[in-house]
Parts: sequence; structure tokens; C-alpha cells
Amino acid sequence: MSNSMPLSKYKFNLVILLFFITLSMALLGLYCRTNAALSLFWPCNALLLGLLVRFPQLSSALTFPSIYAGLVTADIAFGTPVGASAGMDAGNLAFIVTGMGVLLTSYPAQPHPRRLQALNRVFPASVIGAAVCGVIGAVASKHYFHDDLVKGWISWFCEQVSTSIMLLPLVITLPRSDELPELVKEMKAASPLPLMSLLASVALGIYVGGGGSLIFPLPALMWCAVSYPLFITCLLTMATGITEIILVASNVFTIQGRDDFFLIDSLAAARLGVAAMTISPLIVSLSATANKKLVARITRRADYDLLTGALTRSGLAARLDALAARRNHVFYGAAFVVDIDHFKSINDTWGHAAGDYVLAQTVERIRQTLQQTAIISRMGGEEFLILIEGISQHRAFLLADRLRRSIEQHAIILNDQDLSVTVSIGISTLSLIDAHSLDESIKSADKQLYVAKSSGRNRVCPEFVL
Ligand code: GH3
Ligand code: MG
Ligand code: MG
Repeated sequence: MSNSMPLSKYKFNLVILLFFITLSMALLGLYCRTNAALSLFWPCNALLLGLLVRFPQLSSALTFPSIYAGLVTADIAFGTPVGASAGMDAGNLAFIVTGMGVLLTSYPAQPHPRRLQALNRVFPASVIGAAVCGVIGAVASKHYFHDDLVKGWISWFCEQVSTSIMLLPLVITLPRSDELPELVKEMKAASPLPLMSLLASVALGIYVGGGGSLIFPLPALMWCAVSYPLFITCLLTMATGITEIILVASNVFTIQGRDDFFLIDSLAAARLGVAAMTISPLIVSLSATANKKLVARITRRADYDLLTGALTRSGLAARLDALAARRNHVFYGAAFVVDIDHFKSINDTWGHAAGDYVLAQTVERIRQTLQQTAIISRMGGEEFLILIEGISQHRAFLLADRLRRSIEQHAIILNDQDLSVTVSIGISTLSLIDAHSLDESIKSADKQLYVAKSSGRNRVCPEFVL
């Protein structure tokens, strides 16, 4: 929102925007109806529902009135009688309202992020929304065009279910601008094989024909689902689904359905089959995404010390590997080994929990005193290793001494009493040329730490002569 624009005006602009989005999508849909292949889809409802979920800022008290106005305006512009437009668009609106209800109603017991919860409910929202939409749409069609009620309901229902299952996930997962770089990175690293097998399986289905050939792409889609990001999976699934429906309708894909089976003609059967197919990769992709998040969480646990948030030894190794790989250059700088003075007596006097608190607070102080680029790791107990890149010996000493003073001066409050904690610091120079150089550097910083401890504590001892 622009800073100078009042809230009410901003909301009003969004209502107008929503009206025009609806109007243009409905006009596009109606225009497509004149084209045989595209008359198979009415994407407007699912697109609007997805947009309302994906962009919460579009929602306001006037959301549904402005959508309804947009739908009816488009119909009237295409010459549909006002009454018939009002009735059928009530059906379209009912899909969006019902879908919103199913997708977004939250249960306090399952606190999911908005988009993830909505994705998990794409199937029930599409089915329930299409059923409600079908009732209103069929009644309106019967009233104005004397269509058969049951046939009308089935055709509204099948079309809305399949279109919604294909489109909703795509719109809901539309990447935010801050998610784009990650998406591009993942796609650059991804293998093209799943995509190629998807294309091959669709081609094979066309060649072989028959009802079962509709399902040929399913394994390839599953492979895409575990290989590509969620949004790309949704995109490929939608493209496959729409392609198949158009191919069936235009008789390129020849499937034989039983026309008398529950009044579902062969196209409707294809629609339901395609809907069942397209929901499957979404389920797989969601579980793959959940797994990835879990792995990331477990890795975080292994790489960071829970008490202080400093890197563990394995986390330090991973960080240094990543640095070496990314910049392909050698790390020059300084290593500090920091050890809290008389920490045992803090434990003995105040208890172990207070000791833990002092550890966490000390690391917090270290973090606040040093730059973000400093690598802080916990070597064990109350001893920390800090690596600072690109620093001269002289500045390393000044920085370590500033750190020492900062810790001494910021008392830690324990049971309403101020506790002054001090540290001793040993410094060595560091050039990470091979696997041994870090160990060597730590060893010599440790030696200096010993010197600092034995010469009275609360001081900094560098390995080099200043
Ligand atoms: P110095 O000044 O020579 O370093 O003395 P010190 O008492 O700090 O060193 P010493 O190595 O004798 O004692 C370290 C103590 O730190 C012993 C151990 O019980 C305690 N400690 C190690 N890890 C933890 C921890 O995670 N939490 C708490 N509360 N105490 C810990
Ligand atoms: Mg100590
Ligand atoms: Mg120690």
C-alpha cells in the first residue's frame, strides 16, 4: 500500500480491481465458448477462488458483490438475458463462496499456514463447490433454457470439479516475488528427464488410444512431483489435464465411454478420470515438500547448538565447506578461542540452569559485538571458537579486546542480581589452506588461552607479536 493513500481509498481501488479482473476473465471465458476446443472450460470461478486465497488483500466486505457484478456484466455484454445471467452467475458465485469456506475455515487444532491448508483442501473444496454451483446452475438453466435438471447438474458439476482441481493449486502456489530466486535455482538444478517422460507418455497415450491411455502420464507426473517444486508440478499437471480433455473432445484421443452409465457421457467420464489423475501428483508433491521441510529442520538441529544457537562442530564443518565451495578461495583471518572464567563456580553458586542462561547470554553478547560475518561455534562446555575473515592481526587483537570488555561491562541479571561474567581469549592467525590448518590454528589459539588463564584471566593473548 502506498503510504500517502488512505486505507478506505486503497480498499475501494481493490474492489474496482476485483470487478475488472472478474469482468475480463468472464469475457475471456465467454469468448472461448465460441471456440469448440476451449468451450470445454469455464476457468473464471477457480481462478477467482485461487486469487482470493493467494492474495488475501483482495478480500473485503465488497468482494462477492464486485465479483457478481463483474460476472453479470460480462454475460449481459455477450447478449445473455439479464434474468438468465443473474441466475447462472449466482451458481458461479456460489462456487467461489463455498470454495472459500472450505479452503480457509481454520480449525484451531491444526494451525497450518494459509496456503498450505488451502492446498490440502483443494479436493473437498472443488467437489463441494462444484456440487453447490451445479444445483444453482442447473435450476437456472432449467428455468431459462428448459434444460434437463439432472443432466444440467452433472455437466456443471463435472466441468467445475475438473477445472477447479487443475487450476486452483496453480493459482494458490503462484510464487511470491521473494520465492522466485529459490524456484529458479531449484529448476536449474533439476533433471529434465521427468518432463521428457511426461511428454513421451502423453504422446504414447494418443498413439495407443482407449480409456486407459488417459492414465499413461500418471507415473511421469508422479516423477515430476517428487523432482520439481510444488508450483512447477501444479503447472505440468494442469497442462497435462487440459491437453487430455481437449484431445478427448476433439477425438484425437479416442476413448469409449458407456453413454447410459449414470447419464455420464464419455466426456464427463474422461473429466472425472482426469480429475482423479491430477489430484494425485499434488498429494505426492505436498508430502515431498513436507519431507524437505522436516529434513531442513533436522539438519538445523544437528548444525546448531540448541542452548546458544552457535554452530556445532558439524555445523562449523558444513559452513566452512559451503564457504570454500561458493567462493572458491582461501579463508584468511583470525581464530579466537573464548572461554568463560570461573564458570564452574557460577554453576556451583547459582545452579546449572543459571549456568545455561549465562552461556546463552554470553553468546548473544558475542553476536551483538561482532559483525554478522563472524562464524561462532561452540567447541564444548563454555568454550567457543570464533572465526573472522579478512582481519589483520592488529585489528583482530583490538576486536577481541572490545569483545572481552563488552562481556565484562554487560552484567547478566540473575534473580534480580547483577552478575559480571568475564572471558579469556586466545588468538591465532588462520589461513584455511587444507584440512589441518584449522586444527593447527585452534591448537595455537588454545595455547594462548592457557597463557591468558594463567596470567590472571579476563584478558586477550594473541599468538603473534603486536
Ligand atoms: P576457568 O576460568 O579456568 O575456565 O574455570 P572454569 O570453571 O570456567 O572451567 P572448568 O573447565 O573447570 O569448568 C567448566 C564447567 O562448565 C564444568 C562443567 O560442569 C560446566 N559446563 C559444561 N557444559 C555446560 C553446560 O552446557 N551448561 C552448564 N550449566 N554448565 C556446563
Ligand atoms: Mg572456563
Ligand atoms: Mg573451559
